[in-house]
Amino acid sequence: MHTEKIRVDPIEPDVGSVSKAASYLQLGEVIVFPTETVYGLGGDALNVKAVGKIFKIKGRPQDNPLLLHVSSLEMAQRCASEDIARHSRLIDTLWPGPVTLIFRKSSEIPHFVTAGLDTVGIRFPAHPVARFLIELLGSPVAAPSANLSGKPSPTEEKHVIEDLDGLVPCMLLSGKAPLGLESTIIDLTETPPALLRPGPISPEQLQELLDDLTLAPSASDYRSSPKAPGMKYRHYSPDVDLVLIIGDLGKALAHSKKLSEGKKSVILCCEEHAKAFANIAPVRVLGSIHEPYGIALNLFGALRDLSKTGVDLAISESFPEKGIGLAIMNRLRKAASRIVE
Ligand code: AMP
Ligand code: MG
Repeated sequence: MHTEKIRVDPIEPDVGSVSKAASYLQLGEVIVFPTETVYGLGGDALNVKAVGKIFKIKGRPQDNPLLLHVSSLEMAQRCASEDIARHSRLIDTLWPGPVTLIFRKSSEIPHFVTAGLDTVGIRFPAHPVARFLIELLGSPVAAPSANLSGKPSPTEEKHVIEDLDGLVPCMLLSGKAPLGLESTIIDLTETPPALLRPGPISPEQLQELLDDLTLAPSASDYRSSPKAPGMKYRHYSPDVDLVLIIGDLGKALAHSKKLSEGKKSVILCCEEHAKAFANIAPVRVLGSIHEPYGIALNLFGALRDLSKTGVDLAISESFPEKGIGLAIMNRLRKAASRIVE
């Protein structure tokens, strides 16, 4: 299949380009589009055939539900069977933005999209291209991240091209995704509400809005019992063995030294620790410890690059689990083949 690649301005998208992409969705096709978190692989959520294509193209297990992307509160309300205005403080503060809220599903949404669940994850993206696209379709867009299942989520144009060129008829490309980590997911159907996946909106920010929010165990450790079906899958697995070392710099240096003996390895670390680790093995700097959003932005690209560097082993130091650091560590834990505590 030929993939039409349409470059579009991320801030002021032109009508012609986005209309072209929307016409593919209207025909029941599945396309790649940018969001502020990561690139999405989207199809008309009300068209079961289109939804089937999403699972097939990604190789995503059908018991892993898809999130619905909307372009207005009215559209969000159509997806839910309960009054979403009950959560207006949360919604008014966080939407549009990188947060997915789980509500009871309306009958309009096919069960196929939610993998048989009676609940639905709804996201109202802030990215102008995503919003315009959904608006033109006039229906919610079901979309997981636009990577092949198991690979790190795509944050750059080259990532989606690498994974999906020839598998979709159209890609809307707008450069690097501004945040680089998938949305924060909050389950509002639980009492108290639960954080199912940490993301760009930090738990500290959320707890200000939802004082009874619980951090579900699966938010920090995917190995515990899955709350949502998709959580049982290992994610983001680079082709190279990745060992995550939990602990301070001294511990990370000692373990890295031992682990990398006789191996061709690379160490993922922050700028501030690069010099110390470089005595042991080549380093891949993720960003400054004082700017964790920069680390988040670079993480998936770095994980993808591991398979291209020809190393036998990758080692990562750990990062403070506060703010977006909780999401960074959540993704690193999911990517790691081994964790040294
Ligand atoms: P992705 O589409 O790869 O960004 O992942 C979406 C995540 O949201 C997966 O972990 C899904 O299991 C989860 N998810 C989607 N819909 C629901 C739902 N209704 N209830 C709980 N989790 C959900
Ligand atoms: Mg994904």
